[in-house]
Amino acid sequence: MLLCYNYPMAVILDGKNLRDKLLNELQKRIDKFEVKPTLAVILVGENPASKIYVNNKHKIAQKIGINSQIISYPEDISEQLLLDKIEELNKNKDINAILVQLPLPKHISKEKVINKIDPKKDVDGFTPYNFGKLFSGEKPNVYPCTPKGILSLLDEYNIEIAGKHAVVIGRSNIVGRPVAQMLLDRNATVTMCHSHTKNLANITKTADILVSAVGKNIIKGEMLKSGCVVVDVGIFKDESGKTRGDVDFETSSKIASYISPVPGGVGPMTIASLMFNTVELFEKSL
Ligand code: NAP
Repeated sequence: MLLCYNYPMAVILDGKNLRDKLLNELQKRIDKFEVKPTLAVILVGENPASKIYVNNKHKIAQKIGINSQIISYPEDISEQLLLDKIEELNKNKDINAILVQLPLPKHISKEKVINKIDPKKDVDGFTPYNFGKLFSGEKPNVYPCTPKGILSLLDEYNIEIAGKHAVVIGRSNIVGRPVAQMLLDRNATVTMCHSHTKNLANITKTADILVSAVGKNIIKGEMLKSGCVVVDVGIFKDESGKTRGDVDFETSSKIASYISPVPGGVGPMTIASLMFNTVELFEKSL
């Protein structure tokens, strides 16, 4: 197949670098507070990936001056006990941000748990109140972390969004739906794709901005429009245990003008947004 190599090598959307810059600025903001923001993270069970994410968040929060508490429960904790704990955290004036690390064990309703979080302490922006605000075009208390990180990354590189065709693959509440809405709010023309989408390549080839949030290696260079911007949200381990994204970097970086790597792209931006959201909620609570 003949590929159109307009871009010898795409510019890397460097999430690590931007994360460090944003956290540095945030730390200066936190230094000015007499009382520090406090983030409570609830971890249920022994999921190794969740443990790594939670510990990472904890370390970074502490580094920049956010008080961070990890509240760990065994896999078999009852749904009611978890709901009671959230109620207690909602009432606790010393806690201004609550995060429940997903996924939860099957016997616990994710919806019930998220619905229980006070929207003013909902650091992920996942409660129906904050989601409702977002999807009705109003400002939520905070924007969901990964979508917010994606938009910050695009803005850092001055990537124009208005009038562009943005294709979002994946329709989860964590990434796909909110990022599509946020791109729409920035006046992109948005197409959403998912596992039932037919002829995915025909759609991706028309994308000026492609956001892929699937968790499988589904995008190859030949599926892209020359000069497009590629944001790879996916993270999974391949057969050899190597961390991969949805996008084949080798072929795609020769077609795209900008591309986010995995690791080092969207992941660090998600953490930066979490810290930013914690501080936002804290400031709103004063
Ligand atoms: P999810 O809830 O599993 O959603 C995956 C989406 O991909 C679904 O909407 C699914 O469609 C769609 N899909 C599956 N196979 C497809 C295919 N062959 N073609 C097109 N669409 C397909 O996952 P998620 O929570 O959104 O996460 C997605 C990926 O992003 C994962 O790898 C996750 O680890 C990663 N992630 C990264 C970060 C970060 O900070 N970097 C943050 C969050 C998530 P249906 O709806 O039809 O099933």
